[in-house]
Parts: sequence; C-alpha cells; structure tokens
Amino acid sequence: MLDIRDLDIYYGKVHAVKGVNLSVEEGELVSILGANGAGKTSILKAICGITKAAGGQIYLNSKDILNMKPHKLVKQGLGYVPEGRKIYPLLTVKENLMAGAYHRKDRAGIAADLERIYEYFPILKTKSKVLGGNLSGGQQQMLAIGRALMTKPKFLILDEPSMGLAPSVVGQIFQIIGQLRKEGMTILLVEQNAFHALTISDRAYVLETGRIALEGSEQELKNNNQVREIYLGM
Ligand code: ATP
Repeated sequence: MLDIRDLDIYYGKVHAVKGVNLSVEEGELVSILGANGAGKTSILKAICGITKAAGGQIYLNSKDILNMKPHKLVKQGLGYVPEGRKIYPLLTVKENLMAGAYHRKDRAGIAADLERIYEYFPILKTKSKVLGGNLSGGQQQMLAIGRALMTKPKFLILDEPSMGLAPSVVGQIFQIIGQLRKEGMTILLVEQNAFHALTISDRAYVLETGRIALEGSEQELKNNNQVREIYLGM
C-alpha cells in the first residue's frame, strides 16, 4: 500500500534521511524505531507532504504522492496523527473531531464514524463539549487519533502517540492501535517505546542516523541482541 524508495531529506546541509527504502502492505502494522534525531519524524512528514523530499519516490496505492500537498493526501486516504497531538485547544472535543471530516459530505457516514470513535474512547463522548485545551495529555492523544479517524483513512500514520503519557494511558493507546490493526486498518507507527510498539507490530524498521539499520518481524527484532540492548533495555 505504501512504497518508499531511496528517500532523501535535507535540512540545509544536514542530510537527515539517507536513501531510505520502506514498505507497508495492506492490513499491516509497521513500526519505525530509533533514537532521537534518527529521522523518523522526517520520514512521516515527507509522506504527509509537510517536509519536502530532496529525492526518491513515495507511492500510496501505486500513486506517486511525493511532495503532494497535505489536503490532497487526505483525499487519497491518508490519516495523520502528528507528534505532540496538535489538537485545536480552543475548539470543543466534538468540533475537533468534526474538523477531521471537513472534506466529507456523507452525513450518515460522518455520524456513524463519530459514534464509532466515541465507542473507542468513551471519555471523548463524556467530554464532547469541553475545550480541547482543557483535556489531559492522554485524552488529547485520544482526540488526535479520533480526529484522524474522522478523515476516514485507509492508511493511518501515528508519530510518537505514547510520548509524555502516564503508563496506564500508554497501555490504553497501544490497545486501541492494536484494535484498529485487527479491524483491518493499515498503520505506520513511529515510537520511542520500542517494546510496546513491537508487541503490536507485524514488522519494524530500525533507523539510525537517517539510514535503515535493521528490518524484521516482531520476533526477529525482539530476539536481536542489538535491539534488545539498545531499544528494549534488556
Ligand atoms: P525525535 O524522536 O527527536 O522526533 P526523529 O527520529 O523523529 O527524532 P527527526 O525529527 O526526523 O528525528 O530529525 C532528524 C534530523 O534532522 C535531526 O538531526 C534533526 O536535528 C534534524 N531536523 C529535523 N527537523 C529539522 C528542521 N526543521 N531544521 C533543521 N534540522 C532539522
């Protein structure tokens, strides 16, 4: 479904992403793991048209989406949950969710998706009239995921969804991501929390200073000594 070939990203003279090849098949949950500054967010931002790639190709469902504008990518079925959530603090929870559906006209479908999101995250229904800025960090992350789901994506990208959250909420967020995967969503996940991410992933890539250093299934990477030592703290 997603096919990235020889992706290069520069910030001035800094070569942040160096010839990365990465793919996600339909129905797969694939993670990108790596230390701070490895280039994970840059890859996601390039897919989502936020950061310009200097070279390479990105295909979504065989369509060339390299450097396509973000609003066009939403129409191609790409849902994005950015690092740091980026919810609208002065809009209510419901307004934030509806903002995800701005390009849709299927009123019945929008209403059904809103109810589905309230089933995933009942707290969002309880707080539907509360301003986004008044939610806890965990609730804002739920809202950011909900807003992306309201775009009706075929492919969902999540950047560090567990960042800064209490351990109890982290488990809840990963459980929902795993559930979305079981329901057939194709997902690309960037995470510092390697253990949790691997546990729900089909496959993962390990990125080191802009290059793919390792690639494998959950079990292969959990059994890899380098991964165990550096990323799983074992
Ligand atoms: P983190 O987990 O800290 O977000 P990351 O793996 O997502 O790390 P990136 O944010 O993609 O890494 O950054 C990759 C490299 O590019 C780093 O060296 C970073 O300093 C640099 N970089 C990222 N964004 C910019 C920018 N806007 N301008 C200049 N350099 C940048």
